[in-house]
Amino acid sequence: MLTPEQTEELRARLQADLSRLADHAHSALDFTMDRDRDRIGRDSMDEATEEETYSTQLRLHDRETFLLGKIREAMARLDAGEIDECEECSEPIGFKRLLARPVTTLCFECKTAREQVEADEGSE
Ligand SMILES: [Zn+2]
Repeated sequence: MLTPEQTEELRARLQADLSRLADHAHSALDFTMDRDRDRIGRDSMDEATEEETYSTQLRLHDRETFLLGKIREAMARLDAGEIDECEECSEPIGFKRLLARPVTTLCFECKTAREQVEADEGSE
């Protein structure tokens, strides 16, 4: 069980992550709109480079959208008082681990066990 102070610290952390990501998602959208605008009256100079930049932006955007979802889920778990409960073994997740990675849903032991199974998925 987290103390009220720990809960507030995690909430602040999640809110900071959320607004940082929201800013990024916004820039990605601006980029898309700029790109469409730039197309008018422009020749095909350097199109390969441009395509590459664009698809990198899109990949980043997908990843950010995914992370935003995770952060919202974490906030819902925080509100429900379940954020420190491991979804696999129901043991408490350590506060230090939560603070380092507030979107986690697994305790260290379960995460380690799962990593061995999903060794090549690797994003966490
Ligand atoms: Zn566990």
